[in-house]
Amino acid sequence: MTMRVRNLGILAHVDAGKTTLTERILFTTGATHRTGEVHHGTTVTDFDPQERDRGITIFAAAVSCDWNEHRLNLIDTPGHVDFSDEVERSLRVLDGAVAVFDGVAGVEPQSEAVWRKADRYAVPRIAFVNKLDRPGADLDAAVASIRERLGVVPLVLQVPIGREGNFTGVINLISRRAAPGERPLLDAAMQHAVASARKRLEEAVAELHAGALEELSDMSDDTLRSAIRDLTHNHQAIPVLCGSAYRDIGVEQLLDAVVDYLPAPAGDPAAHLAALVFKRAGRLTYLRVYDGTITKGDTVWDTGAQHTERIARILRVQADKHTDVDQATAGDIVAVAGVKAAKAGTTLCERAHPVLLEAPRSAEPLVSVA
Ligand code: GDP
Repeated sequence: MTMRVRNLGILAHVDAGKTTLTERILFTTGATHRTGEVHHGTTVTDFDPQERDRGITIFAAAVSCDWNEHRLNLIDTPGHVDFSDEVERSLRVLDGAVAVFDGVAGVEPQSEAVWRKADRYAVPRIAFVNKLDRPGADLDAAVASIRERLGVVPLVLQVPIGREGNFTGVINLISRRAAPGERPLLDAAMQHAVASARKRLEEAVAELHAGALEELSDMSDDTLRSAIRDLTHNHQAIPVLCGSAYRDIGVEQLLDAVVDYLPAPAGDPAAHLAALVFKRAGRLTYLRVYDGTITKGDTVWDTGAQHTERIARILRVQADKHTDVDQATAGDIVAVAGVKAAKAGTTLCERAHPVLLEAPRSAEPLVSVA
């Protein structure tokens, strides 16, 4: 069974705009109405003072927000290479990721390093080429660097309107809401650019799908969308979105793409509990529930350390506030209070049904030690 949830991370080279993008996402989804100035200590995802001082995101936190009737759990993945254990643990709990690239620099060494790690965990990804408003930004060049340096097939889903300082918006090649009136009026040159980009996209998708599609020309938006979803889940292609987080361009379209192309979590809420502790931060312990249901007041078994823990409270972390919930089920990511000794990396389960969640997700995820 699948939930209307997306557990995703934002992967980026330091300075590509991950913090700004995260803030815009939280703002756009209504999870926060406070826009923090990046690097000045008010950024909502940066909980830790050390992190604020350094202006880089060192410690992971999971933040929930809602978009189009889906719950998005954003798992912060540190972009700094010094903290690779933390990166690995956060990659372990993701079902998908948005990789952010600088529209001027394209793929940079650190973005490549994080990308390779995400490969190890077989995380389906979409790319967001950010900072298209900057002088020297070039979507085509960034897409070429994604193709060449990462060795993947990029599928560009948008055409930017204007360049550099005159970058004002993006046009989706696959429209999501059937409201043509919402489209900006395009001049002849733009109409031509959009038509030929759509044709290239259809051709690329048809070629990758190699006969699996019935319609090979003039694909409908729905056909194209579901084909691209398959290709993304199967690691055959990377949808590419673009915009400017700073100017708030392309953020809604990116959120739509997260819902459309990244996978929902799998798992069975009725099965025995299997939850992974992936982060401890002060009183809070961050959990990913893979199977089963965890209820406030439950006593659970820490398989790693062989002791019991009581779940005093279950909290959903929304930017800078915490909301109490009674339960968390398979596929969800929550913070719990009351856990005393369980360490990051350990599994919480039922004592009568011990389970050990193994680290590499490409391997069989659940190994029973019973
Ligand atoms: P992080 O290190 O990846 O979290 O990147 P930040 O979000 O802190 O952004 C790094 C710098 O790039 C900051 O000065 C941002 O204001 C700036 N920035 C972020 N997004 C954009 C954008 O879309 N356009 C421009 N011109 N600058 C941006």
